[in-house]
Amino acid sequence: MPVLSAVSQTDYFIDLENQYGAHNYHPLPVVLQKGEGIYVWDVEEKKYYDFLSAYSAVNQGHCHPRIIQSLIEQAQKLTLTSRAFHSRALGEFTQYITQYFKYDKVLPMNTGAEAVETALKLCRHWGYAVKKIPDNKAKIIVCANNFHGRTLGIISFSTDLVAKKDFGPYLPGFEIIPYNDLPALSDALQDANVAGFLVEPIQGEAGVVVPDDGYLSKAKQYCADANVLFIGDEIQTGLCRTGRMLCCDHENVRPDILILGKALGGGALPVSAVLADDEIMLTIKPGEHGSTYGGNPLACKVAITALDVLKEENLAENAEAVGKFFREELMQMNSPHIKEVRGKGLLNAIVINHPDENAAWKLCMELKENRLLAKPTHGDKIRFAPPLIISKDEIIDCIKIIEKSLKVLD
Ligand SMILES: *Cc1c(COP(=O)(O)O)cnc(C)c1O
Repeated sequence: MPVLSAVSQTDYFIDLENQYGAHNYHPLPVVLQKGEGIYVWDVEEKKYYDFLSAYSAVNQGHCHPRIIQSLIEQAQKLTLTSRAFHSRALGEFTQYITQYFKYDKVLPMNTGAEAVETALKLCRHWGYAVKKIPDNKAKIIVCANNFHGRTLGIISFSTDLVAKKDFGPYLPGFEIIPYNDLPALSDALQDANVAGFLVEPIQGEAGVVVPDDGYLSKAKQYCADANVLFIGDEIQTGLCRTGRMLCCDHENVRPDILILGKALGGGALPVSAVLADDEIMLTIKPGEHGSTYGGNPLACKVAITALDVLKEENLAENAEAVGKFFREELMQMNSPHIKEVRGKGLLNAIVINHPDENAAWKLCMELKENRLLAKPTHGDKIRFAPPLIISKDEIIDCIKIIEKSLKVLD
């Protein structure tokens, strides 16, 4: 790297990204180069608490030693076979994850969006093969303000204009109903051509929108009564984030199709998966769906360890206890700038109460100055989602940082 006197390291790398990278994100102006546990360091060697955890992909903490060990060991043996051949690691992974979540079968992919697409295809297939919906008539119900990824198929049923505008034409076959609205679901389920209901147990990207108690269990019951598949997108809410292994576990709901991603790769690799029982999963036949990297040996080994760490380190219990404490402390602050504190486990958000529409961004900049990284979502909300290994003492320190930083809005 050239020695630059006038330009900081931070500015140098931000300029590189801006000059050569597409402008499809608007990151905080911090350039990271190292991570360990709940901490990240920038190129000026400044250390921060990570309160985003890569949108909950780093539940186990940055560079978890066991996950990295699995990555290195497998990387030195075999990394990719494609699905043209079997691999030892894929066999092990399929057994491990299906026993872990108690489903008959798993279909491995890479990114979350791919897993959502897979679940939608699977649901349509089941709709025709099992439910006997007439050709090309299958419908899938989704919720307003959803976030399920960025593919053309998925943005077709987004209600976020920024995500959609000028990307048409859109894929048909979806009906959008309000979130947390059981009568609307009940109405939509009247149509005999409905094959599935795709839902986030908590809407993460929408700003951690927690539905009423009983919403998920009743929605599941309505779907069962209508012979419609309940598809749980647990990419962000799953894997201990909300204080249970799955967020649906809070209401003892077992999705017919379960979608996982993010922390399944332990923050090391993109690994996603769709789980379902045979009646659903075996409607997909050879050649009908796939991915070159999906289920690769490296991903399989990393995912096994990523899942093992969640149980071994009791991360659901820790997220539940520390998360509850965190919300209580935030509420006790009684800040005039906080309109609402909400969340479950360690998936939390505050809604900012301030006339300045840039207040959330301003607060995040101040939090950054004070060594805590968080990112605004949808204008006035800030998500607080540290790695699940964070302790109560560390959270107390973070609370102090948040309290001090809020003064910037006085
Ligand atoms: C992040 C996310 C996705 C998309 O995952 P990618 O890996 O970014 O494609 C889908 N659904 C939910 C709920 C998510 O939070």
